[in-house]
Amino acid sequence: LSERLGGILDRLTGRGALTEKDVDAAMREVRRALLEADVALEVVRSFTERVREQAIGATVVKSVTPGQMVVKIVHDELINTLGAEGQTIDVNSVPPVPIMMVGLQGSGKTTTTAKLARRLVQRDKRKVLMASLDVYRPAAMEQLAVLGRDLDIPTLPIVAGQQPTQIAKRALEAGKLGGYDIVLLDTAGRTTLDEEMMAEAAAIKAAANPHEVLLVADSLTGQDAVNLARSFDQRVGLTGIVLTRVDGDGRGGAALSMRAVTGKPIKLIGTGEKTDALEDFHPDRIAGRILGMGDVVSLVERAAANIDAEKAARTAERMRKGQFDLNDMREQLSQMANMGGISGLMGMMPGISKMKNQIAAAGIDDKILKRQVAIIDSMTREERRHPDLLKASRKKRIAAGSGQSVEHVNKLLKMHRNMADVMKAMGSGKRGPLAGIAQA
Ligand code: GDP
Ligand code: MG
Repeated sequence: LSERLGGILDRLTGRGALTEKDVDAAMREVRRALLEADVALEVVRSFTERVREQAIGATVVKSVTPGQMVVKIVHDELINTLGAEGQTIDVNSVPPVPIMMVGLQGSGKTTTTAKLARRLVQRDKRKVLMASLDVYRPAAMEQLAVLGRDLDIPTLPIVAGQQPTQIAKRALEAGKLGGYDIVLLDTAGRTTLDEEMMAEAAAIKAAANPHEVLLVADSLTGQDAVNLARSFDQRVGLTGIVLTRVDGDGRGGAALSMRAVTGKPIKLIGTGEKTDALEDFHPDRIAGRILGMGDVVSLVERAAANIDAEKAARTAERMRKGQFDLNDMREQLSQMANMGGISGLMGMMPGISKMKNQIAAAGIDDKILKRQVAIIDSMTREERRHPDLLKASRKKRIAAGSGQSVEHVNKLLKMHRNMADVMKAMGSGKRGPLAGIAQA
């Protein structure tokens, strides 16, 4: 994608806002890249539509090209869609906590069961029992038993002639009797999505009432990923997805497809055949993979850094000239909100925590940050540049527009004057910008 977008990047030389034409040209390439990465068609469609909406009209800052800007928007939306990091397996329930694996045959369920058991035992110090519910292939049960012996993790003794639901119940019973924390249920897959498998999985779920139902899916699954994830989610109900064979050369499009259609988090990834090859899911890595390489990530980071640096430099320059207007103030306020608000800032900057009492006394909290931004947003461009214009009638209008009182508008203006004064004085390095807020 970077190469392709590189081509477009050269063609998009305009500055200012991204035009519809620019964006459409870039979207065609994005679309092609996603399809090449094996993202399912319907997901590609909705994804590019979302990116398109965000991209059109987006301001291109001087230090990045419009193409880079598009790549950044695509990358951010990919991460956004792929979901948050740190979605772990939830084992907080009454022991023995049942966790069930579902998926097609060969997707890696048995291997993942052993990998997860290993992690839970070795890292989390849990007592884990594994049970194979694959009654169709005796070798499958034996496979889990062998893995268990290697890891020194117990597996449920094999009893011939039992139905999967009976085995599930027996496993939970054994889990209870043996004082286990967690019981992992490895189910049988089929080579295709068929009704028998779904009915069986649904029956096991009903019998075992698992705390987690994990869809184990090969990262190389292409267009089928959508049907696969949707069917399992609708028929059985999933709590998460484990993506396997991420060590292969697949581009990981299945991750986006499955996440997009089910909304269920990708909780783990398998990165090899060995039982230690299990990792947490990092959306940025998969995003980089889907976009084709690590280049994009560094490109995006550079773009993001440039964007921030440029904004900061612009504000600093204006401050130096004593031109700190309400636009600059809005910029500062929203940057503060981005950094986790007042409490986030206090955590990051030791000096500020000393002002805790002052800030508290001034009644500044994150809600106020939002309110202040809302007030500024209700002003016209002219008003933001020239706060002096703001007389009674305009204040009334702004108050109404932002759903605040005139008193709040006055407070904000006072705070702006304080901040502007502090900014000017900042050369002396005595006080930080928050001092202005605390005086408001
Ligand atoms: P099941 O039919 O869903 O139980 O699949 P298995 O767990 O038996 O796995 C099928 C094959 O895929 C085995 O040869 C595993 O070693 C292999 N496998 C499973 N997970 C991974 C993975 O993350 N990476 C690689 N390279 N191979 C895997
Ligand atoms: Mg198996």
